[in-house]
Amino acid sequence: MAKMSPSHARSPQIARFAFHGGIHPPEHKDLTRDRPIKSLPIMPHYVLPLHMHIGAPARAIVQVGQWVAKGQVLAQATDFISASIHAPTSGVIIAITEHPIPHPGGLAAAALILEADGEDRAGEPLPPWPDFTTKSATELRGRLREAGIVGLGGAVFPTAAKLATGGTSSVHTLVLNGAECEPYITCDDRLMRERPEDILHGAAIVLHMMGANRCLIGIEDNKPEAIATLLTASAQDTRFETIAVPTRYPAGGEKQLLKVLTNVEVPRGRRATEYGLLCLNVATVAAIYRAVVLGEPMTERIVTVTGEGIVQPENFRVPLGTKISDVIAAAGGYTAGADRLIMGGPMMGFALHDDEVPVVKATNCLLALRPQDRPTTPAPQPCIRCSLCAEACPADLLPQQLYWYARAKQFDRAVEYHLFDCIECGVCSAVCPSHLPLVDFYRFAKTEVWAQERDHSKASLARERFEFRNERLERIKAEREAALNKKRQNLAVNTAVAPSVATGMDTATMVPSAPASDEAFGEYRPEPKALGTQRPGDVGTEPVILDSAVEAACVRAKARRAALDAERAQQESKLAPESKSDLP
Ligand code: SF4
Ligand code: SF4
Repeated sequence: MAKMSPSHARSPQIARFAFHGGIHPPEHKDLTRDRPIKSLPIMPHYVLPLHMHIGAPARAIVQVGQWVAKGQVLAQATDFISASIHAPTSGVIIAITEHPIPHPGGLAAAALILEADGEDRAGEPLPPWPDFTTKSATELRGRLREAGIVGLGGAVFPTAAKLATGGTSSVHTLVLNGAECEPYITCDDRLMRERPEDILHGAAIVLHMMGANRCLIGIEDNKPEAIATLLTASAQDTRFETIAVPTRYPAGGEKQLLKVLTNVEVPRGRRATEYGLLCLNVATVAAIYRAVVLGEPMTERIVTVTGEGIVQPENFRVPLGTKISDVIAAAGGYTAGADRLIMGGPMMGFALHDDEVPVVKATNCLLALRPQDRPTTPAPQPCIRCSLCAEACPADLLPQQLYWYARAKQFDRAVEYHLFDCIECGVCSAVCPSHLPLVDFYRFAKTEVWAQERDHSKASLARERFEFRNERLERIKAEREAALNKKRQNLAVNTAVAPSVATGMDTATMVPSAPASDEAFGEYRPEPKALGTQRPGDVGTEPVILDSAVEAACVRAKARRAALDAERAQQESKLAPESKSDLP
């Protein structure tokens, strides 16, 4: 890292810009902000879904019954946007089966079930690259892909793909997202306070990959310890600027943070990289550091276990695949009356159907609540067109319009109103005086649009397959016709020579015939004709010699048959007197 003298040590900057809308909900971070990150003991079983990231599911490359080492690749990325999955500990794969996953609909999906052997034996590590500056951006991207690194801020987008998207060569500023604006969650806060070097090293790797030399670290001002820690840790490096961001939800949204830190408003449908900016979560760059410098694949993440429904709220370093029930148990279990478990925060998280699902790469928080801990939600009333939702929407949308179109299932109109720019922050629902569950409608509309697109692409695929099949059959038919015609022509040429020449045998004696000579044909030189093309009644066609040969053979056969019949008749006439005497 570039060095500077201690005299250059800086104080935190204060963000000078603001994003549109937003709210300041109760923070509830006191429950865990001072709880250091703890490790969990090895659990008996781990459930590793093959699809823990955005993009194509990984493909299992291990067999049931196979012993695997900690860190071994269990499932490989199958596409450009996909991520590999590694064993969180050593043990035996006891099943590859459908298993419930953390999903708002309580869905099940293909997963590997690992039975731990308790030894936690590591396999062949990825080679550590302490001097990552000797590696090219391509090599480093390959390492991130190999290590299964995805964005840990909630998006779980494969990092290698994010760093490869077009235009990253023009990135001049890396923005580290340490805002952690959701109530209750403190895992990034604890990481920044406990492992600032991991974050700075990871950022340095990304700067090297991008050829950039400026890194802004945005942290909400409700985390003064994290701001101070990073400020101190980066004091010797001029590339880093730590900026205190006013606490306002959702300051941690990518576009909102970029606006606050740089005053750049990334328009709809455009990417931050087009403006020379790249935004990564602090936990993601820490994982990049561990993958590149230490050779560690992504096998764990930090999870805040919190809420008034938890006996002892904590921050845990949790191996991926650990059952949520085991994590809750490690935090002392549920308090009496806890009746809701949420994955994520209260604004953007979703309620889980049960806790027998695994921790995945997207699990940043487990929040257990009692009825008295959450605001009572009165029954929804009709929209009164007050526009409070539009005023508060940080994405500058018209939430009430989106609501009407989603509710009326006019999804194309909802898309026209930028449905997919909605970051599902929940601000509109929070401010709505009619208590409309607006975000639920947007999620429903998005799911429907995706389903329609899937159906459409399936239909297109089926049509393409059908057309391809027809083309293939036509081609095969044409090739067969051509081959048959060629064969017919060859046979016609051969039969035009002589029967004995065509077969190479004398048809009467069935011994090899003498080679035909021009003299053998005398005056008669038949035109070559394809076998089987002559039909009775054809005008102007010459007789085919092979047919004559067949006729001759038939005549001989008839003569032979007649001779045999005559012979038999003669023998019967000799026997006739004795036979007759036997008659009654
Ligand atoms: S805040 Fe609620 S009531 Fe007001 S316009 Fe928006 S959806 Fe309608
Ligand atoms: S959930 Fe969507 S529509 Fe509602 S405030 Fe957030 S971004 Fe705007």
